[in-house]
Amino acid sequence: MKKLIAFVLSLMLVLTAVAALAETTETKGTLVMATNASFPPYEYYDGETIVGIDAEIAAAIAAYLGYDFRIDDMEFDSIIPAVDSGKADFGLAGMTVTEERMLQVDFSDSYATGVQVVIVKEGSPIASVDDLSAEGANYTIGVQLSTTGDLYCTWDLEDYGLATVNRYPNGNEAVQALLTGKVDCVVIDNEPAKAYVAANPGLKILETAYAIEDYAACFKKGNPLRDEFNTALNALIEDGTIPAIIEKYIPSEQKAEEPAAE
Ligand code: GLN
Repeated sequence: MKKLIAFVLSLMLVLTAVAALAETTETKGTLVMATNASFPPYEYYDGETIVGIDAEIAAAIAAYLGYDFRIDDMEFDSIIPAVDSGKADFGLAGMTVTEERMLQVDFSDSYATGVQVVIVKEGSPIASVDDLSAEGANYTIGVQLSTTGDLYCTWDLEDYGLATVNRYPNGNEAVQALLTGKVDCVVIDNEPAKAYVAANPGLKILETAYAIEDYAACFKKGNPLRDEFNTALNALIEDGTIPAIIEKYIPSEQKAEEPAAE
């Protein structure tokens, strides 16, 4: 019993020492990254941990700049409001730079390219992007709420009465709706599309792409952190850190197979 007490006491001493040590390792503070962790391979759960290209890039940038960092998972639609209200320092979520978003937030330099693609069930009558706008087709399209896939399908198709758009809080739910026949196709970014198709037999990605886009981090308008972030981003692109992170999740032989834009 005495031995046990002695052991517990020494363990407590060690833990106190470790805690004290941790406190003395000073950082500039904690950066909070807002994301939607349902977007593989950019951000997704591996058990309880959010991993992926964006998670690793943010960790590398925070370390480079001397900040601690933490990820807050939320719906894609909540990322810009979180950044605007200061709840998050930046959003990193495979987010496409668009003119509309530039009115609300500032973007960093771009670090990756995205392609909007169409996922259908094997044997679907939808064979190309053009089929979506065919006279009288009136397909139901699944998208992630407020993503560019949502915006394009709304503006190009739904607003003209050519299709119905069903909006889901994340890509996984949109794909589940396709599997259960609630929608005829899903318009989503190519990398998560590949991951969803790999995980769900019976689905395929159409050869023709909907649009090609640039991904960047977003910041509250005027936040000087954006410039610091860009300095780190460019240094880590230059020294090969970021290319290696992207290569780890998207090996280059796989990139060669991407569908071409129309
Ligand atoms: N690239 C798309 C957009 O910015 C989707 C991003 C996402 O769902 N994480 O709208």
